[in-house]
Formats: sequence, C-alpha cells, structure tokens
Amino acid sequence: MPQIPFALRDDPVGAYPEEWVAAFAEIHERPFRAKQVFRWIHTRSVADPARMTDAAKTLRDKLASWSLAMPAEIREVRRAADDTRKVLIGFPKSPAAGTVETVLIPPLPDEDDDEAELEADDEAPAVTGLRVAARRVTQCISSQVGCAMGCVFCASGVAGLKRHLSAGEIVAQVLLGRTLLDEGEAIRNVVLMGMGEPLHNYDNVARALRLLTHADGMNLSSRRVTVSTSGLVPEIDRLGEEFKGEIALAVSLHAPDDELRSRIMPVNKKYPLGELMAALRRYPLARRRRITIEYTLIRNVNDRPEHARALLRLLRNLPMKVNLIPMNPIEAAPWQAPTRDDVLAFQDVLRKGTDQAVFIRRTRGDEIDAACGQLALHGAKAVKRKLPMIGERHGGA
Ligand code: SAH
Ligand code: SF4
Repeated sequence: MPQIPFALRDDPVGAYPEEWVAAFAEIHERPFRAKQVFRWIHTRSVADPARMTDAAKTLRDKLASWSLAMPAEIREVRRAADDTRKVLIGFPKSPAAGTVETVLIPPLPDEDDDEAELEADDEAPAVTGLRVAARRVTQCISSQVGCAMGCVFCASGVAGLKRHLSAGEIVAQVLLGRTLLDEGEAIRNVVLMGMGEPLHNYDNVARALRLLTHADGMNLSSRRVTVSTSGLVPEIDRLGEEFKGEIALAVSLHAPDDELRSRIMPVNKKYPLGELMAALRRYPLARRRRITIEYTLIRNVNDRPEHARALLRLLRNLPMKVNLIPMNPIEAAPWQAPTRDDVLAFQDVLRKGTDQAVFIRRTRGDEIDAACGQLALHGAKAVKRKLPMIGERHGGA
C-alpha cells in the first residue's frame, strides 16, 4: 500500500481540497476522487473510508490503510430545557490531550441580534418558494485546550494553556456538532468563543476558517463566522488583511481603562487599550458590518456607572454593538456576578450615550452550565451561576 502523503499525514481533516488533489496525484488517483473525499468529510461529516459509498473499492482500501478518521469525538452531550446542547469533545488519537467543549445554541423566537441585517445581505434567501428556512443554530467552538491569556475571571485562563488545537480538530467540532442537530435545524453561525484564545493559535484557526467557509465544504458565510479575541493586536491586523475584513470580529474589552484592564486581563500589559482601539478602528470591516464589543460585568469591579461612561468615551464613533455578559462565577476566583439592577443600569447608561446596539447576553442552557468555557472544568473549578434576582441589594466587594 502507498504511504500516506505528507500533506495529509498529520491533519487530513484540516487539509484543503487542493492538498487532497496533490496527495492523490502521488498515489495516482484522479483529482475528482480527491474532491469526493473532501466532500464526504466536509459536507457529510464522514471521515471513515468504509462509509464513502461512491468511492471505488481500491481507493477505499488505500484510504483505510492511512487510518483516516475524525480527529475528535463526542464524549458527552447535555441538553437543556431550551434545547441548547453542550458537548464534551475528546481526541481519540491522543487521550492525554485533554478535552474541550462546544455548544449548540438554537435561536430564541425574538432573537435580538442583527439577524435581519445578515438575512438581507445573504445571497441565498432563507425562504425559497415553499421551502421554509431551517432553524438557525449557532455553534460555539474551542480553539485551544486551556488558554495562556490568564484572564482572572475565566476558568480556561485560570487553567492555563495545555495545547493548541489543529485545524482539523477545530473544524471537526462543527462536523460533529452537525450530527447532533434536530430535524429542521442547520448550523448557520459559528463563534470561536469556547475554550482558548483563537488568535494565539492563528495559523490553525485561519485554516479552519477557510475550511468552514469553503464553497466545496460547509460553505458557511464568512460574515456568520465570528472570531472572539482578548485583543492580540498584530493578529487582529493579520486577520483583517488576510480575510479582507469579512470574518466577523468580537473583542473582549471588559474594562474602559488600562489600569483596570491590566488587572483582570494580563494581555492588556502587552497590548494596551490605545493600541487595541487603533487596531479595531483600522479593521477593514465589510460594508454595514460592526465589531462586537464583549464586556463581562463583574460585581463592583467593572460594573459601575462611571465605567459605562468611560466605555462610551473609549468607543466613540466605532461601528459596533455591545454585548454585556453577566459574569459566570468560577470557584478559583473571588469575583462575583453583578446584580440584575446593576446590569440594567449599565446598559441604560450605554443606551443613552450611543445609538448603537447594546444587548445583555441571555443565559442559555443555564442548568447545564452552557456558558462557553465551563463544561470541560465542570465539577473541578466551575460552579453554577447564581444571578441575583431583580431588586436584590448590592453586596459590598
Ligand atoms: N479567548 C477569547 C474567546 C473565548 S472566551 C476571548 O477572550 O474573547 C469568550 C468570552 O467569554 C469572552 O468575552 C470572555 O471574556 C468571556 N468569559 C470568560 N469567562 C467568563 C466568565 N466566567 N463569565 C462570563 N464571561 C466569561
Ligand atoms: Fe483566554 Fe478568553 Fe478566557 Fe481570557 S477570557 S483566559 S483570552 S479564553
């Protein structure tokens, strides 16, 4: 049997169609056969050659000898009453490589995102003739096992970086996620907001983005794929240049000044707010697109009205929408969730000071701890979020 070609050896699920074609040339197989295999993997989530029924037997035998398989596997699925599914992902080839999680989030009936705007921009209409649009599921995926950025309020940050995920391991989360969809659902949005800092694993993430949006593969719209970053300035520039601003960008800000931001996000010492804001302002955003500003509210740390006013000054004239995220407490850190009143007051200050959208991120799948970045540590460091009820008095810090 011919040896597995070099381009496919380490990460076949992370290979581009042209790499499959080149590898197939080495084993004297025709280009269309290569593309057939690429499609089995990326449009049908099938990596086992035995199941590629339209491939010739001789080809299937060759592929079988390469032990072609999905690089990730589903270890556990937990489903919440709102149909959010939280999935624990393991890596069969390297059992010691840890686990990550991915979350499938069905839309709310009155979803308050910019879905209507995206719909209007879509080349393919969601409703064609009598065919009703599929229920659009958003999938949150991970880019690393753990994270090196050390944000003090984050379970992944407290755990530290274990390793980068390969492009195939990133893409496989969506390929596997698709096998867990209900009738009538389709994955339309992918957000890199799970475990890890995507831009710290730039090359593998960029490759995964190209595969997720590839016309012969999953063919997701790049505007529906969001990279969330803690603010790695050179890589934000690189992402903007290489993808011409078409990949949606979310930035975790969490503080309006350098002193506070450096305290809760060590990455700010390397790329302070002045540099980060300059990078956001030069990001080559597609027409009518906006940058998402994420702001995790931590009780009495960054949730005061003066923080909201400073944030308004910092973000002036930036095309953006703001997502306020009430902190999900972790056991390893003393930080607490904000009170409901303070979240609403913070939103109110922002809404009065800007005509751009300001949302409070809703809790989905609360009883299964479905906030991104929690399941892999479940039982160890993550504790269930307890959001104080409206009207509760502010606790002292
Ligand atoms: N590393 C990237 C993406 C993964 S984290 C980033 O930081 O942007 C996704 C989002 O979840 C970030 O905005 C992050 O700050 C937020 N987050 C992390 N831990 C949290 C917690 N305990 N409570 C609420 N939000 C949290
Ligand atoms: Fe890493 Fe993001 Fe967590 Fe910070 S918030 S430690 S960057 S995963």
